[in-house]
Amino acid sequence: MFTDSHCHLTFPEFAGRMPQIREAMAAAGVDRALCICTTLEEFAEVQALAARFDNFWASVGVHPDNEDIAEPSVEDLVQRSALPKVVAIGETGLDYYQMEERKGGRSIADMEWQRERFRVHIRAARQVRKPLVIHTREASADTLAILKEEGEDGSAAAAGGVFHCFTETAEVARAALDLGFYISFSGILTFKKAQDLRDVAAFVPLDRMLIETDSPYLAPVPYRGKTNNPSYVPFVAQQIAELRQLPVETIGQVTSRNFETLFTSVNT
Ligand SMILES: [Zn+2]
Ligand SMILES: [Zn+2]
Repeated sequence: MFTDSHCHLTFPEFAGRMPQIREAMAAAGVDRALCICTTLEEFAEVQALAARFDNFWASVGVHPDNEDIAEPSVEDLVQRSALPKVVAIGETGLDYYQMEERKGGRSIADMEWQRERFRVHIRAARQVRKPLVIHTREASADTLAILKEEGEDGSAAAAGGVFHCFTETAEVARAALDLGFYISFSGILTFKKAQDLRDVAAFVPLDRMLIETDSPYLAPVPYRGKTNNPSYVPFVAQQIAELRQLPVETIGQVTSRNFETLFTSVNT
């Protein structure tokens, strides 16, 4: 039993390939996947995919890297989150990676629109009491500060959620855990140079950990560089199993249980 907590199955890489992907998932024991939305324009397709298959769920949100797309309001997110199989708000967050190359040389100060968009998602999540799927890259201090400013403190009133595709330090993991968030590891954990990240995965409590592929990106070793798909998520579990000296099945079960605990509406 394995659960892919984050994948993008509506991306063009998968066009016409759903039967093969679902077959590969079944063969690999990957029972469930959360299909992540990155624009409002994409949402209808993501939600339809989840509505079509028992073991797929959907999120609603606009990725921090996306520009020249519809800017979501709290109401846009709230309305869509009420549709069947929508269990999370995101992916949302902040991305300050390679500002020069990727953001046309704009400064972090210029990224106020990202921070505002992130706040909109947090407000929607708190209103509908669904967890956040958070993307943060080279922006962990602002990500944590904004979550706190918006009232996220791990209390019963908090939305909570997951820091997806975690690549930050142990200190950031600790701070996210302290705010009540889960930590999700991707195929990056299997990359040769990712020893620092493996050290983080060795200490994150097992009951606060998720696994994901982030398909079509970041295929784990031995498929690194190829198109990723949810059937590869056991390779992430295998890496954690080695770090924790536990059977891979145990990691699959524990992270699947965590998925149900966090995204409570998968049970309804
Ligand atoms: Zn992401
Ligand atoms: Zn993603």
